[in-house]
Amino acid sequence: MAQRIWNFNPGPATLPLSVLEKAKKDIPNYNNTGMSVMEISHRSEDYKKIHSEAKSLLKSLFNIPDDYNILFLQGGASLQFAMIPMNLLSQGSSADYLITGRWSKKAITEANIIAEGKIAGSSEDKNFSYIPKNLDLHSNAEYAHLTSNNTIAGTQWHTFPDTGNVPLIADMSSDILSRKLDVGKFGLIYAGAQKNLGPAGVTIVIIRKDLVEKARNDIPTLLKYATHVEKDSAFNTPPTFAIYMVKLVLEWIEDQGGLEKIEQTNREKAETLYTTMDNNSDFYKGAVEKEDRSLMNITLRLPSEELEKKFIAEGAKAGFGGLKGHRSVGGVRISIYNAMPLKGVKELNKFMINFAKKNG
Ligand SMILES: *Cc1c(COP(=O)(O)O)cnc(C)c1O
Repeated sequence: MAQRIWNFNPGPATLPLSVLEKAKKDIPNYNNTGMSVMEISHRSEDYKKIHSEAKSLLKSLFNIPDDYNILFLQGGASLQFAMIPMNLLSQGSSADYLITGRWSKKAITEANIIAEGKIAGSSEDKNFSYIPKNLDLHSNAEYAHLTSNNTIAGTQWHTFPDTGNVPLIADMSSDILSRKLDVGKFGLIYAGAQKNLGPAGVTIVIIRKDLVEKARNDIPTLLKYATHVEKDSAFNTPPTFAIYMVKLVLEWIEDQGGLEKIEQTNREKAETLYTTMDNNSDFYKGAVEKEDRSLMNITLRLPSEELEKKFIAEGAKAGFGGLKGHRSVGGVRISIYNAMPLKGVKELNKFMINFAKKNG
């Protein structure tokens, strides 16, 4: 491959080219240290500066209130599925889970190992093709958990349920920083970095301070949020290079004009492709309810599996990668995270219009 492709991978996903180039330039000799970021101590002033700048950029871009802690952890979003109930549930207590796909099912499975995860809403009856509207929330739940964007199904919560005094927890792995949000509505937000924030290896956790204070103490040290708050995410060696990459991506978001501009572009990208699907609805069949369509992951079916294979293969030849649907659902999935430029979407859109013409 002589040049970079338009990378529609679902995750790990495309990164801004300028970020990759900055990282490349920094690799042999970061900030005149004579070493790369990968080779410097996580206790060094150079690294500490990266760490704190990444935090303050995230705080300002996402408008995170002062009563929240920002943590850089490992273990992916998947470890958060377990850490959340370990910290916040005890025997006899329960939490509400809104089930909108594979990831929320994995999350509730972990809750049920520790205590009780109650299904307070689900779209499993229709293959996760919508966001549940009639919720059965419990006022005595320790928290309510949802997946803000369903990477595999292609649905997204466009408004969030009011959970009253029950802290709302969101897995935002595939849409963090894709739009403006009121962080103050959430008790905890978490996201693996590898879709919208950087490379795999670091997980962002934004947790309200009162939840850290009331969390359980009788669990292993590394699994307690309090440990990571106390040690500023450096109880053990943090994933330094991944955090440095996240910092570069956050700087890139700032250069784009912040979340307002990012959201505007994301809406334009999604609208471009959904319009083409709607204009060719006999050929490109959206897999989900229109009002719940994701701005990040567009899922669709073509008239036959054969045509889907052809679409993916011809797309790859034309320079569009990562169009295959998740192995559990098949079909086509187009992931258009923050770092996918509008230009790439427009090129793919042209390809889609032509492909429908030729094969429809
Ligand atoms: C990718 C993804 C995960 C899994 O993340 P890991 O970092 O691999 O554990 C969890 N939730 C959502 C919504 C995802 O998109």
